Amino acid sequence: MRDRTDEPRPLTLPLLLRRGVTVRCPLCGGRGLFRRWFTMVDRCPRCRLRTERIEGHWLGSLGMNTIVSFTAVVIAMVVGFLLAYPDGSLTAAVVFVVATAVIVPIAFFPVSKTLWSAIDLAMRPLEPDDDVDPRWIPPVSRHEA
Ligand SMILES: [Zn+2]
Repeated sequence: MRDRTDEPRPLTLPLLLRRGVTVRCPLCGGRGLFRRWFTMVDRCPRCRLRTERIEGHWLGSLGMNTIVSFTAVVIAMVVGFLLAYPDGSLTAAVVFVVATAVIVPIAFFPVSKTLWSAIDLAMRPLEPDDDVDPRWIPPVSRHEA
């Protein structure tokens, strides 16, 4: 959503993270970055921000997804153990842990991509090479350019 004024909002870290967590474009807040669950478009349909800004861009999202998934598996193991101990079903606990290990990385995949893009934009502000729609260049980046 654009503000009442014509200026795009300054890209503060909370705004970037909120857009990342809600699978929106970190620059303009637009949707439509995914064609399918695993297929991302090359550029944001609204502001033209490239989704893969540099080669190796997605290593960060891969790392984040791995950390989140392993954390979820460890939590699932603890919960599964507590539910199974001492007389519960070990099979149910194992199924719970395996289901967590399969579902969490898939479910978190789009969020890991947009959240990493938001963190990347916080660490590496827009550059002329990004070639975005100038209407979406935030005030701070415009002054730095
Ligand atoms: Zn955008």
